[in-house]
Amino acid sequence: MTSLLKLKHIHPGLVQSWPGSKLRQVSVDRATPGSQSSLREANRARLVDAIKRFGAITQVELAGATGLSTATVSTIVKELVAAGVLMTAPVSRSGRRAQQVSLARQLGMVAGVHFSQRMLRIELADMAGTVVATQHMPLPYEHRADTGMDRAARLIHDMVESVGATPEELLGVGLAVAAPVDVRTGLLSVRGVLRGWDEVDIPGSFSRRIGKPVWIDNDANLAIVAEHRYGAAQGCDAAVFVAIGHGVGAGLLVDGCVVRGHGGMAGEIGHVRVVENGRVCVCGNRGCLETVVNSGVLVETLRATHGNLALRDIIAKALAGDVGCTRVVADSGEHVGAAVAALCNVFNPQRVVVGGILGTAGEIALAPLRATVARASLASQFAELDVVQSTLGEAAEVRGAVALALDSVALPIGTLEVAHVY
Ligand SMILES: [Zn+2]
Repeated sequence: MTSLLKLKHIHPGLVQSWPGSKLRQVSVDRATPGSQSSLREANRARLVDAIKRFGAITQVELAGATGLSTATVSTIVKELVAAGVLMTAPVSRSGRRAQQVSLARQLGMVAGVHFSQRMLRIELADMAGTVVATQHMPLPYEHRADTGMDRAARLIHDMVESVGATPEELLGVGLAVAAPVDVRTGLLSVRGVLRGWDEVDIPGSFSRRIGKPVWIDNDANLAIVAEHRYGAAQGCDAAVFVAIGHGVGAGLLVDGCVVRGHGGMAGEIGHVRVVENGRVCVCGNRGCLETVVNSGVLVETLRATHGNLALRDIIAKALAGDVGCTRVVADSGEHVGAAVAALCNVFNPQRVVVGGILGTAGEIALAPLRATVARASLASQFAELDVVQSTLGEAAEVRGAVALALDSVALPIGTLEVAHVY
């Protein structure tokens, strides 16, 4: 019983779409459709796809997730371990021994980057999904896209070096941006929301800087993916992530898939009108939620009594019991709750996960948000709706960018050549 597996170069046909909970089409032109080898390759792709989505997973769970028999799973796992694509480790599940399967660390690594109005966050992860390095640095308000991307490219380079890896080991980068984005074009969908980034082909431009494939999505969309996979929305088929910070945004997950809408603008609750004839918003409309809940307004509201505070100081003081800071954080939660209630009436999520800087204030923001949602959404629906704090905190978006890169990166599984079949 001998088997010989040989890896060829990454096949250009093996490009996988994001996110797609459905099975992906993997085209491998070498194989004849319907032939034994094309079936084997399709099964390998299905198995690796499940591992990418679920992270480390036992062989029994893999059989459940892919619909393949445990015998087929076991055979493919053996082949892919021999080829260096997968690795296994013994684990104990409910007192029984099992083999846990994950992508092999030595396949390489990916980076996730979160660009927000004022902050840059980066995580470097191996192909098993383990984060091996993190970095963050402030960005100047209304910085130019070039500034953000130059800094991120330099930081990624340094981080790869700091973990003792070579530039070749970096396989791709996922980007999370704090604005609605059309993932087909890589352009922001609305002008003015992330100033300095309009009309820029962001993934193309970043890919030229770093010399690697780059993928992009809105930060709240990626945050709900991360919370669904690793955080507070695990096990939910329908969930909403609400980020409250310098602005307000939401990511929607329905039937396990991210809902982006036609131009990438689904979930932009920051631009729901909450004040008739209110202040003019960056989007050009009046009275948007973001004109009431944004760092500038919160800081300004407290200036007369508290002096010049940063948003982070306001949260810290609220958590320490300052009544004025507690008031503005609670009021923000209430305002956001009104928009979230409308979203709940439309999408009927099982869980609302609250993140962003205001999310770190915990119940001070969550309790009024929850009360408003209870008041303004369908009573029967609210009985089964949780409003909870993000477990990934301010790293939710960047962790989602890592997941995007892990899911999108092409692996050489479709071109494994089985020279001798046992
Ligand atoms: Zn607006």
